Amino acid sequence: MSPIGAGMKQLHDLRLKLREISDQLERGPRQIAARKQHIDKKKEELEAHRAKLKQLKVSADQKNLQLKSSEGRIYELNGKLNIAANNREYEALRSQIAADTMAKSVLEDEILEALEKVDASQIESKKFELEVAKVEAELQQLIATVQEKEAGLKAQAAALQTQVAEAEQVVPPDLLPQYRRLVQAYGAAALAPVVNKSCSECFVSVTAQVYVELRAGKVRFCTCGRLMYVADDE
Ligand SMILES: [Zn+2]
Repeated sequence: MSPIGAGMKQLHDLRLKLREISDQLERGPRQIAARKQHIDKKKEELEAHRAKLKQLKVSADQKNLQLKSSEGRIYELNGKLNIAANNREYEALRSQIAADTMAKSVLEDEILEALEKVDASQIESKKFELEVAKVEAELQQLIATVQEKEAGLKAQAAALQTQVAEAEQVVPPDLLPQYRRLVQAYGAAALAPVVNKSCSECFVSVTAQVYVELRAGKVRFCTCGRLMYVADDE
């Protein structure tokens, strides 16, 4: 392998490593953002459950108040019954009490049903609360793990950047602007080894002439724009 080929390979390998480290650095915050979005959704669901529970409690309370007033009314009617002036009044009061007692019994059933709904809703809300607490704890764990890794990854990236800058000395100075533009556009894929006499990025065969030049240590760009090099086992 020509010294330029070897230098290009080293530069390419370093850029690939740097890309891997940069990807890892970006992955953490992306995971955290996705998890936060998931938690926000769960919290919205929890709020909806709480609102439903509150509404069920209000409804049960209202029915309880109705029951109290119904009981009061029946008590009053019974009082009147004891002092009824005549048989007609007595019978009228009795049938009124019977009707009110029937209504009261229906109301009691409704209250029982409402309280069962409150209980079920309470259980469901509690379940959601626990779920939110669990995913929030998992998020904190994830943030800690990401932060723990971040410092090491940043140090690795900085070291690689220095190595890349040194390895870039292999690029002839007059080709540096073109090389920079390529890196801007393709990152680590700005460089492409020739494999089976083809560019490894676009798979187009290089001409015999270009191949000979590459082996002789000349710098050549592929028609796809990449900076090509010939590795030792090619
Ligand atoms: Zn190519």
